Amino acid sequence: MGTQVHQHVHGLDAASCCAAARDEIVRLEQLWSVFLPNSEISELARRAGSTALSVASDTAAILRLARELHDLTRGAFDVTAGPLIELWRAAARRGIEPTEKALGEALALVNAGDIELIEPQTVRLRRHGQRLDLGAIGKGYAADRCIELYRARGIRHAFIDLGGNVAVLGGKPDGTPWRVGLQTPGRERGECFGWVDVCDASLVTSGNYERGYEFGARRYSHILDPRTGSPLPDDLRSVSVLHASSALADAFATALIVMDTQSAFEFASDFGLAAVLFDAGTIRLSPAMAHCFRSASSRAAVVE
Ligand code: AMP
Ligand code: MG
Repeated sequence: MGTQVHQHVHGLDAASCCAAARDEIVRLEQLWSVFLPNSEISELARRAGSTALSVASDTAAILRLARELHDLTRGAFDVTAGPLIELWRAAARRGIEPTEKALGEALALVNAGDIELIEPQTVRLRRHGQRLDLGAIGKGYAADRCIELYRARGIRHAFIDLGGNVAVLGGKPDGTPWRVGLQTPGRERGECFGWVDVCDASLVTSGNYERGYEFGARRYSHILDPRTGSPLPDDLRSVSVLHASSALADAFATALIVMDTQSAFEFASDFGLAAVLFDAGTIRLSPAMAHCFRSASSRAAVVE
């Protein structure tokens, strides 16, 4: 999944638990990677506009969820953004931004409503050229699976971090919650503007800094707006979402960063989502996050 995974598992047999979780992540990556030609996601792209594919239950489940999240976020989150992501990735390799024509063609293929779930585990992409990208939800889904796996093996205290997707089981063995720091965008890794205490939940951050597409001096975020086809500006924004489900926290964090900060704040408030919105030094907390967040600085502007 293009990231490092850290696990802290406490209990008998913790080492074999970690190994089993690692195997589970590898299994999901083999189903969903856009870089592996034999993944189900690659096969669905090859068959787009023609035949359906019988998929693993996890693939059907994540696609069902992704379709609902697309509707709920009014298109800010869209796993059919594959053609756009591919276009911008290829353009960045050449160092030349895509033409309006190419952008328009890729954008026309983006619509999560075209994911047909024919039977519970049979999927087809309606139109030729369509392709999925689960980069904004797959790590969260995998974190949920790992937490389930720990629980099924009798573990009561565990922490897993898949590159910014943190999920925890219980609290720490000493009875205190797991404390997750929130990286200050644009600052040295490890410098945090605040933290959130987490028990039996997941905290996921999406940021517009760090990863992205570069064209000489121009830089864009790796997250794009599926409604316009363009990547977001490379600015100092981040969104962190706390949720019982890591898959949902992951998808909502991406969706909220696609929205502007005001719309994201309203969305999080309306849906009772616990979110921290960091925008160029200003921190905004949704009402559900207000009692979970601790600021690292007494000077930080926190608007609730
Ligand atoms: P995340 O780091 O969870 O915000 O996910 C970002 C990744 O998801 C990108 O690297 C793309 O692979 C993919 N992606 C980018 N923009 C979107 C979007 N608006 N909706 C869904 N997936 C996206
Ligand atoms: Mg995400």
